[in-house]
Amino acid sequence: MSTSSGRDGHPGPSATNERLAGAVARVVRNGNCSGCGACALVSSRVSLDLDEDGFLRPSVAADCAVDAATDRREARLFRRTCPGDRLAAPRDPRPHDSATFGRYVQAWEAWAADPEVRFAGSSAGALTALSTWLVESGRAPSVVGAASDAERPARTVPVRITSRQEALAAAGSRYAPVGTVAGYDPSGPAPLVGKPCEVSAARQLNEALGVPDAASPIRLTFFCAGTPSQRATESLAAALGVPADQAVSLRYRGNGWPGEFRVVGRDGTAGAASYEESWGRHLGRNLQWRCKICPDGTGGDGDISVGDFWRADENGYPVFDDADGSSVVIARTERGRALVEAAIAAGVLVARPVSLDAVEAIQPLQRTRRETLLGRLAGRLAAGRRIPRYRGYGLLALAARHLSANLRAARGTRKRSLAPRRTEGAADAVARVRADS
Ligand SMILES: Cc1cc2nc3c(=O)[nH]c(=O)nc-3n(C[C@H](O)[C@H](O)[C@H](O)COP(=O)(O)OP(=O)(O)OC[C@H]3O[C@@H](n4cnc5c(N)ncnc54)[C@H](O)[C@@H]3O)c2cc1C
Repeated sequence: MSTSSGRDGHPGPSATNERLAGAVARVVRNGNCSGCGACALVSSRVSLDLDEDGFLRPSVAADCAVDAATDRREARLFRRTCPGDRLAAPRDPRPHDSATFGRYVQAWEAWAADPEVRFAGSSAGALTALSTWLVESGRAPSVVGAASDAERPARTVPVRITSRQEALAAAGSRYAPVGTVAGYDPSGPAPLVGKPCEVSAARQLNEALGVPDAASPIRLTFFCAGTPSQRATESLAAALGVPADQAVSLRYRGNGWPGEFRVVGRDGTAGAASYEESWGRHLGRNLQWRCKICPDGTGGDGDISVGDFWRADENGYPVFDDADGSSVVIARTERGRALVEAAIAAGVLVARPVSLDAVEAIQPLQRTRRETLLGRLAGRLAAGRRIPRYRGYGLLALAARHLSANLRAARGTRKRSLAPRRTEGAADAVARVRADS
């Protein structure tokens, strides 16, 4: 199923004479930008900043003149790379297919063998263990990831990991905007750790530049429900007694599983909220639009993708009690499988094969978002928004199997798309944290 079109009166993706600024603005204006930052790789005229809603958004420098041919070439490259403009599922052969997780080679339940790494990691430190091993074994000089900003710890920035210490400092999910793919070099040696949209942008950039995927750096990714606004981090920190600009450290989770949101201020004030409170009641309610219409929240474009292997209660719902971390690790490609197997053999990961049917039950958001995606896209169109062009995700077949859920999703999405956007402010967060305590 391929999706396309819209009616905002601007040139469509097929326009061959479109300029870069117009192409970028079209994605942003329609709520299709995920803030991945790949556009900054396409042209040095692009920079990304937080917008007033607290999401990373690109702009094209107007004072930096380029000739028309260059401008059109950059616009074409942008349209082939940007996952807010188009996204096509990878076509290489893979033995297994799952309606929720897409195509894959092999899956395991796994955790970092090093207990310090397992404890520090978001779910079980698998990505930190792999990053550490890649750099310490000399397989890669560095790994691109994301971490708390040393100068403004409430912010998140792309980093280059070159040692175990740096990998540990970058461990743990950061539920805030950051564009790690900006540090990606298709012909370089550094593997990329990034959200599914970031590794998709990297794969599409390879394709657009004619770089064979097998010759490009390894892509490590994780399951992603979506990127919350930076304002949501700020209002939660303030509600916990620490204004974000006074924070000397801010973690979202990790240091246990799932671990807690924890912020410490300059004067020693510390505030903490459980994962259920911080993600479930606050951060996860302030996501950008592109994430709500994401066709690939489980990293089909990575070589390896990692998610939480939550335990389930008697109703099959995930249990978020603190425990020793456990991850599902999915090899999407043969080179991904070879890397996981080498990491197991080297004693870096502990793993046992798992069926993704067991994982589907404890990832309800990922399952529902895919099942109702066609309805959500229809709702966006009905609200007058352009939508990205998606190909190869089987959305029509899923919608046919879940017809009434898709009709509800279409109606709800249209209504929410037409409502004025509102990111929860500090006062709401204070009220919510007080009501919950
Ligand atoms: C925005 C977001 C949404 C998520 N949604 C889900 C979900 O729906 N289901 C689920 O099971 N799990 C979700 N996770 C958690 C994710 O699955 C775990 O991070 C994953 O299980 C890997 O665990 P780990 O212990 O191996 O990672 P770790 O060893 O802790 O390593 C995490 C790595 O991710 C990188 N990283 C952290 N935050 C970001 C970021 N914002 N952008 C780019 N790179 C980053 C770090 O550099 C680090 O290398 C989400 C994480 C994020 C950041």
